[in-house]
Amino acid sequence: MNMESEIDRVFALQQAHQWHLRTSTAEQRKDRLRRFREVLVKYEEEIRNALASDLGRPAEEPMPFELAVTLEDIDEAIEHLDEWMKPVPVQTSAPVGQAYMIYEPRGVVLVFGSWNFPISLLLTPMVPMIAAGNCVIAKPNELTPASSAVAAKIIREAFDEREVAVFEGGVDVANALLERPFDHIFLTGSPAVGKIVMAAAARHLASVTLELGGKCPAILDDSANFDTAVSEIGMGRMTNNGQTCLCVDYVALPESLRDPFVEALGNQWRDSFYDGETFMADRNSRMVNSRNFSRVKGYIDDAVARGARVAFGGNCDEENLTIEPTILLDTPLDALVMQEEIFGPVLPIVTYRDVSEVYTFIRKSGKPLGMNIFSERRDFIEDVLRNTSSGGVSVNGWARNWPESHLPFGGVNTSGTGRYHSIHGFRELSHERAVFEVI
Ligand code: NAD
Repeated sequence: MNMESEIDRVFALQQAHQWHLRTSTAEQRKDRLRRFREVLVKYEEEIRNALASDLGRPAEEPMPFELAVTLEDIDEAIEHLDEWMKPVPVQTSAPVGQAYMIYEPRGVVLVFGSWNFPISLLLTPMVPMIAAGNCVIAKPNELTPASSAVAAKIIREAFDEREVAVFEGGVDVANALLERPFDHIFLTGSPAVGKIVMAAAARHLASVTLELGGKCPAILDDSANFDTAVSEIGMGRMTNNGQTCLCVDYVALPESLRDPFVEALGNQWRDSFYDGETFMADRNSRMVNSRNFSRVKGYIDDAVARGARVAFGGNCDEENLTIEPTILLDTPLDALVMQEEIFGPVLPIVTYRDVSEVYTFIRKSGKPLGMNIFSERRDFIEDVLRNTSSGGVSVNGWARNWPESHLPFGGVNTSGTGRYHSIHGFRELSHERAVFEVI
């Protein structure tokens, strides 16, 4: 059977089955999540091997981070699903009625994952989809083929295809899926593909959740706890070799902090990623492929050609797809590295005399997914919050809003639309249906 007719077959099955699934009880949905959990744990070793093969991810974590994230969300959903599914009463303005909201499934949902965390960013959004009673078709990312294969195996083993199905492949498969009238589309990916997905959704008036990227800044003032800022930003740039949607994309600080910051950050990275003077690339993930390697190397070359200075690292090894952790100084704001999301281990540091200069830059770069503020001054923190916008904010720590499951996670405009995590994910993947009963 060719790809188009196979998609038609599965889509038709799910369209019919959704009406059965929407009547499922909390207990039945929890059983599906328990089964999902069981199969995920069974494939721990294969997940670890796939991440090593696709991204050179070091294997020392006791439980691969990506698997741990999905398991945590499953456990939370199992614990709270009864409560999440309850109707929420609201006050009525008319005396003769009662009003409430019920959370019904959206229907048949399409999910696309990104390659940087190819297991968790495909499977974690499926947790609220299943909890909310939806049918799901998942398309793993083609740039990480080993992870795509394991994710597909897990889905096929854990679920009946009428409930959750998977189609592996690239843009051709993505586009074929986007032709179908899904009720909701959930993308984790780039703003460019976000526009394609939103336009495709518009053809069927499907709702969307877009978890996109952008340039996430770290802003310091001179009251910031210096050691905390250095260690959090150092980690915030290098996690997954800079290929994380919340990675610190540039640092803005007062001129007087610049040189001590560069020295301290260089020392931290030396301790983490070097043996003496030798860069130990295998202590972190590598660049996902040669296209992304060349893109990031191109940013360094372009910045240097425009007068930036490499203050740390800067060496690139094409054969092994590795780039040293790199600090850039004196980078012009119109250099590519300050205009595009870097998605690699390169950190430009810019200085400001007045923080309003930073606001002007942020406002021109699109609203970031995350913003990191380092300061001990309440008025500074509030000034940054009032004068900028971003999906989320982390104060005095890198991306601390992300693991806080009670907070919604998502972007705004260029960094996305919609929210997930915990009850926010359950509600995102549900239609909030308003009911008024005359009594
Ligand atoms: P991508 O947008 O290239 O790909 C995402 C998905 O879209 C894949 O399944 C791919 O097959 C599909 N796709 C790609 N091109 C397409 C096209 N022309 N038409 C239809 N579908 C297409 O994203 P990526 O490179 O995998 O991921 C990196 C981006 O994701 C970065 O911008 C990063 O910031 C962002 N991201 C965001 C989050 C978040 O939670 N907000 C998390 C991780 C990554």
